Amino acid sequence: MPQPKKRHTASRQGKRRANWLKLKTRSLRACPQCGKKVLPHAVCPSCGTYKGRQVIKIKPPKKKAKE
Ligand SMILES: [Zn+2]
Repeated sequence: MPQPKKRHTASRQGKRRANWLKLKTRSLRACPQCGKKVLPHAVCPSCGTYKGRQVIKIKPPKKKAKE
């Protein structure tokens, strides 16, 4: 069996593993306000609430000018 020539540092190992989370499907929770799937411990991007209170203002979706 071929053997590695040099030891890989913890830094190099960490850099390689830094992308693992992107590949995994992250756990999502349903928003209590709008019911949409949101990341846990994060403000809901669709209604802007966190723990039942309004945190950020959400702009209504822009309508097209030609209508
Ligand atoms: Zn929401």
